[in-house]
Amino acid sequence: MDHSLTDRHRATITAVCNTFIRTLERRDDPDGLWGLSGSGRGTEQAVVAAVEQMPEFANVCEVLESLDQASFATSPRRIREQSLHEILIGGDDAAVALRTIQRLTITISGELSSNRGGSFDTERDAISDPAPKTIVPIIPEGDSLEIDADVVVVGSGAGGGVIAGTLALQGLKVVVLEAGKYRNEDDFTMLQGPAFNDSYWRGGPATAADGNVWVQAGAGLGGGTVINESNCMETRSLVRDQWAKEFGLEGVDGAEYDRHLNSVRRRIMINGDCSDLNGPQLRMQAGADVLEWSFKRTHRNADPATYDPLTAGFTSYGDASGSKQSTLKTYLQDAFDAGADIFVNTSAQTIRVTGGKAAGIDAVYTDPDTGRTAAIRVNSETVVVACGALESPALLLRSGIGGPAVGQHLHLHPCTAVSGLYAEDLSSWWGPAYAGYVDEFADAHDGWGWVIEGVVYTHAAMSLPRQATPGKPEQTVNDFDRMASFIGLLRDRSSGQVTIDRSGNPVYGYAMTDATDIANSYDAVEGQIRLHEAAGAMSITSVAAGLPRWNRGENIAAFIDQCRAIPLRAGGHQLWSGHQMSSCRMGNNPETSVANPWGELHDTPGVWIGDSSALPTAPGTNPMFTIMALAHRTAEAISGIVDDPSQSTFAARA
Ligand SMILES: Cc1cc2nc3c(=O)[nH]c(=O)nc-3n(C[C@H](O)[C@H](O)[C@H](O)COP(=O)(O)OP(=O)(O)OC[C@H]3O[C@@H](n4cnc5c(N)ncnc54)[C@H](O)[C@@H]3O)c2cc1C
Repeated sequence: MDHSLTDRHRATITAVCNTFIRTLERRDDPDGLWGLSGSGRGTEQAVVAAVEQMPEFANVCEVLESLDQASFATSPRRIREQSLHEILIGGDDAAVALRTIQRLTITISGELSSNRGGSFDTERDAISDPAPKTIVPIIPEGDSLEIDADVVVVGSGAGGGVIAGTLALQGLKVVVLEAGKYRNEDDFTMLQGPAFNDSYWRGGPATAADGNVWVQAGAGLGGGTVINESNCMETRSLVRDQWAKEFGLEGVDGAEYDRHLNSVRRRIMINGDCSDLNGPQLRMQAGADVLEWSFKRTHRNADPATYDPLTAGFTSYGDASGSKQSTLKTYLQDAFDAGADIFVNTSAQTIRVTGGKAAGIDAVYTDPDTGRTAAIRVNSETVVVACGALESPALLLRSGIGGPAVGQHLHLHPCTAVSGLYAEDLSSWWGPAYAGYVDEFADAHDGWGWVIEGVVYTHAAMSLPRQATPGKPEQTVNDFDRMASFIGLLRDRSSGQVTIDRSGNPVYGYAMTDATDIANSYDAVEGQIRLHEAAGAMSITSVAAGLPRWNRGENIAAFIDQCRAIPLRAGGHQLWSGHQMSSCRMGNNPETSVANPWGELHDTPGVWIGDSSALPTAPGTNPMFTIMALAHRTAEAISGIVDDPSQSTFAARA
């Protein structure tokens, strides 16, 4: 429901925007972009419009009113910065609401859309040939539409895309319902703001209800596979063994699962020829060499024929070169070519259940331009839930099915981040953002360890905490081209939970409570610091409240101790997640899992879990390849047909 802000609220939002986005002097500012404040760019109008549609509207109003009572809008900048900082480091509703305004302000302003202002537009124009859209989605004409299907797949990302394509190629009548938009390389401007608005869940980084972790997830035809960084890591053997033994995922520890991995590997063209190391990753490699830590290159699902290192650094805003083999370009295209009906801008509301079994989906189509809506009903005895690990449990909860484990066991691979400032320009936007990693400590604590990875250079992930820290932004923007940022990604045993609010929207929370996780996370912060030091960084900054900083010549052990004393929650180390998993997990026990080891709900035959929420535990590796291989396995379990029956035991199950 839309709400309306008062004039005083609007004035306070303008002041908040101008506090977050100040005018900055930058060495290189050909377009004058950095010299504009938030309101100089018209940011506040778009923020007001967004706030008026937000579920958290009431909390935002409370924050605005308390700021107004403290004469925020007329206070000097230093006081305004301090006031916002104090709210942001709290863990209450006010902090969550203000972080939402902060994220909207920074995203909408486009300030961080490129570290080189508008200059890459020329490159963008130079590289892109027209790319026609080769899938034609169904657009309902009236105010309702009812169709029949063998299988309806909800969500079209890593999991849903694979299941839709695999089943459509086997001759089944498949309907795909996708809540997001259909965008391809013709639409990708390599700018953060439009990418967040059009291709990300909730329009970009979204904070947990408890403020502890920011998450990012894709939303659109192809889901996260369209905006992710394309690295493809195999499920580790110790994880496969655990899933087979402890959760009953038959065959996952052996050749049967290798077959699924290989099938996906072929279809999305995973190869090692598109993994150039950019400046920050060369620093990571150099540091690892000095410390004698294991450093590896990733494999990526990019077509070497069209891969272009000039645009690869912007892949998380959508791959403008068209080389990325997302589900949009592979499995969903297969599904469409085989006759599947594909809906976009269509959000599944509930799963219909008749006689305890799946009967179909009720969804709503919304025209993104006019707001016109149409009720969509799909009749189908097979429903695949693949909305991502934040939305899939919400769909089950809205439908009243799935049992006691729905929304529990949410794993996030929470990441800490540490930046190093180097003497030279690192050309960090050149080449893939993440093509190398340090896995020296992946097997710490019996396989519950951590890895150090690269991260998108121009990302808000690196910028939000800096914007929240008084007095720091100038330094950040002027140093940006010499900065390398690493993340420490944790294979978490701690878990969060997804519930729904009164409107049925997902609400998630996550607290890192497991002692091994806490020890690992601090070790990961130290590991990143040591890597930067060994690689020759002039200064090192931990992405945490207050931005603690070490300068070469100072005592590094004291700096590490300082960072180890900062809590791993809101107001402390900034935790991030691009990997939400396990919230409707597979397993043998209906009390602790939602689906059986093949993906079908324990309590509702005909409803299957086909995405990241099905993973029994956090895998500790970037999950796309694993999600796709498990989805391929689930697709075959649904149909009982395999792409090469001679190699499979599945036919016998059918
Ligand atoms: C910035 C970023 C970079 C990443 N980089 C990598 C990487 O390099 N390698 C890697 O392995 N992983 C990476 N990941 C993670 C990976 O992309 C995800 O783990 C994966 O896409 C999750 O797959 P999924 O099928 O569970 O959900 P998604 O791919 O997120 O797809 C879910 C889809 O469901 C749709 N949906 C949601 N609710 C509904 C509804 N009610 N009705 C209809 N549709 C709905 C959403 O719009 C979305 O399109 C990255 C993620 C991010 C955000």
